[in-house]
Amino acid sequence: MTDHFMKQWLKRNFQPDYITDGVHDIDYKDLFDSGIRLLLLDIDNTLAVHGSHESDNYAKTAIENMKLAGFSVYILSNARKHRAQSFASGLGVEAEGMAYKPSPKILLKTCERLQYKQNETCMIGDQLLTDIWAARRAGVKSILVKPRSAQESGHIRIKRLIERIILKMIDK
Ligand SMILES: [Mg+2]
Repeated sequence: MTDHFMKQWLKRNFQPDYITDGVHDIDYKDLFDSGIRLLLLDIDNTLAVHGSHESDNYAKTAIENMKLAGFSVYILSNARKHRAQSFASGLGVEAEGMAYKPSPKILLKTCERLQYKQNETCMIGDQLLTDIWAARRAGVKSILVKPRSAQESGHIRIKRLIERIILKMIDK
């Protein structure tokens, strides 16, 4: 594969529509005006510090702001169903655990069940290799946020290295 096609392929699969520092730095009004109505949210390192079971003020105010801006909010996480649901219930939103991102399958099923089209949906998450890839494959908008906590396990650190390489290549 030439560099050109490699870059095109990476862009097609991993280019987020926006990159922000966190869920509090997203311009929700702008997003709503662009036609988005459903926000799909990752948990770990997006709404929560990795591995935490309870939602804190950071997550609560973020969800409130999204709802105030007029969005339907839904959690789509690769965490176990039980944990995703207990985290989400503290926020007053519904959730799907074991979403198998980067597979687009459950993401698309969720849109269909909630009756939103792909062009009305945006996935928000901290990982290129799960959240953004799933969004790109599903044909929905995506926002990459910086991870909430710096402490991450070994295999996630390796993924972060790969993410940095991909973002650098896309950016060139
Ligand atoms: Mg995450």
